[in-house]
Amino acid sequence: MKVCKFGGSSLADAKQLTKVMDIVLADPTRRIVVVSAPGKRDKNDTKVTDLLIALAKTALDGKDTAQALAAVVARYQSIATDLALEGDIIARIEQDLIARLAADKSNAGEFMDLLKAAGEDNNAKLVAEAFAARGVKARYASPKDTGMILEGEFGNAVLNPDSYKRLARALSDFEGLVVYPGFFGYTVDGRVATFPRGGSDITGSILAAAVRADVYENITDVDSVYPVDPRIVPEVKEGIETMTYREMRELSYAGFGVFNDEAIFPAVRARIPINVRNTNHPAEPGTMIVQTRRVTPGTVTGIASQSGFCNICVDKYCMNREVGFCLRLLQILESEGVSYEHMPSGVDSVSVIIHSDNFDAAKEKRVVQRIKRELNPDEVVVQHDLAILMIVGEGMCFSAGMLAKVTQSLASAGINLSMVNQGASEISVMRAIRSECRSDAVRALYHTFFGEQA
Ligand code: ASP
Repeated sequence: MKVCKFGGSSLADAKQLTKVMDIVLADPTRRIVVVSAPGKRDKNDTKVTDLLIALAKTALDGKDTAQALAAVVARYQSIATDLALEGDIIARIEQDLIARLAADKSNAGEFMDLLKAAGEDNNAKLVAEAFAARGVKARYASPKDTGMILEGEFGNAVLNPDSYKRLARALSDFEGLVVYPGFFGYTVDGRVATFPRGGSDITGSILAAAVRADVYENITDVDSVYPVDPRIVPEVKEGIETMTYREMRELSYAGFGVFNDEAIFPAVRARIPINVRNTNHPAEPGTMIVQTRRVTPGTVTGIASQSGFCNICVDKYCMNREVGFCLRLLQILESEGVSYEHMPSGVDSVSVIIHSDNFDAAKEKRVVQRIKRELNPDEVVVQHDLAILMIVGEGMCFSAGMLAKVTQSLASAGINLSMVNQGASEISVMRAIRSECRSDAVRALYHTFFGEQA
């Protein structure tokens, strides 16, 4: 059995939804269909989720919501009209939104999640109707009734692990096609909570793991996962045929947007292969993401980059002799609620790379003062506007000369390195560089490692 998840651009209008239905019906093993909210129809369009966020903000500000509500309803209406769907689905969607708008607003995060979830929830109902209109036995499945229980923060929820059993049991009762809304679930006390943005990928992965699917198809708008962001290197042609879970995890962590990085874990846990494919080119085999693959030594699988980092560099002579130095450094960050991303170190220095968005000027001042006071370093400097570059590949393991090749490639492009880190797994090398050099660095590395494809 296959679980397939379709992203927002695959469901943006009636034409795309028709392609989705054709894909699902072409393979009877595609039994569970996870849907996002309708996405952008073109570059200048707005995703339904963003329209819903705007609607929720309008309501929270106590302003008139009529226009923002109409904008959301219009998106579903145009799909239903173009598919000539009969019945009252649009009236039901409007009623649902009105009911959500009337909910308690005392917890803004909770109210926001209730509204955001409406995008996927109503779309799943509409898609189930569209299948039914083609004579297909298809049913909408509710995350509440099937036991998708989440916990943690609103807007950033995580799965309660007991959900797997409940979901498996509930979904085995369904006959025919199941249409399941992505992106949200319920807290134990029945409140709607969403995963982070892009979270329908997570729902799909959870369901694939719960029902022990043969494959989790993540069907989106690219033919495959590319070794490099095509917006930075437009000449990239060949996609990745097969990659491992850990390669995907490292690349999506560092900015590969094709697949939500948190979505890998449920599939990994249950060893379900993930197949990334394209709604617009269904004949393309896409990229398979699996536990192990055959590897050619000395090869790179992908190069990712992301800006928005800063680095706290602490220098202290004979730091290595001071028991607990790093522990105390991290405790200072912990007390400010700052998590670290990487921590390269030398004999007398240690660097802590963190996300800039959780490190404002006031926090920085407090952290630097405490480091000076409590650790008595020779120097502490904070570098801003850094990007991380991640060069990833199982083929990098135990291959001499990979680091030299990376460094040489960047040096030839005139890019100065702020930091180097290589994980213990040896499947990735991380470099920190100035943000403004990001695209040049990615292009240089692409031509070094994939030059013959360009
Ligand atoms: N609709 C949600 C978003 O735009 C979730 C998703 O599409 O995966 O983030």
